[in-house]
Amino acid sequence: MAAPKKLRVGIFSFTGDEGCVITLLEALNYKFFEWKDKIDIVYARTLRSKNDASNLDLAFVEGAISAPAEEAKLREIRANSKVVVAIGTCAINGLPSAQRNNFPDGLKKEIQPLVQKLGQFERMKAPTEVVKVDEQVPGCPMLETGFVQVVEKYIAQMEVG
Ligand code: SF4
Repeated sequence: MAAPKKLRVGIFSFTGDEGCVITLLEALNYKFFEWKDKIDIVYARTLRSKNDASNLDLAFVEGAISAPAEEAKLREIRANSKVVVAIGTCAINGLPSAQRNNFPDGLKKEIQPLVQKLGQFERMKAPTEVVKVDEQVPGCPMLETGFVQVVEKYIAQMEVG
């Protein structure tokens, strides 16, 4: 008999403080046993040493995009995922992680050598500017209830078939 289907889930952090992933882990504290036969977290740097980002059903993305390597990784995630979910305001509109975009000109000039040294974009981007995002969970950090609702929406869709 074929194994029951599980949603393949990936969790990805870009430039930010990873506060949204902490919120996600807090939700797993009480949802883990309910979800363990329905979702398979195959990519999460904070949870696993071996990760697989292929053929994802749900990709959760936090943080802003600060450098070309991050942009390329995000495009790869989009290509490998049925549904991409932006979690938290950094992933939705870039802020607060992209606040240097709004610095006055003098301060921008002051940090320019560091931006160049790190190989970062002059202007940081929100993931929603780079790829099509299917769902958004607002908040800084993201709303835990919003995250749970998204996971349960796609579990329900999987169970209906
Ligand atoms: S939205 Fe807030 S909590 Fe989430 S990564 Fe950005 S700064 Fe951190």
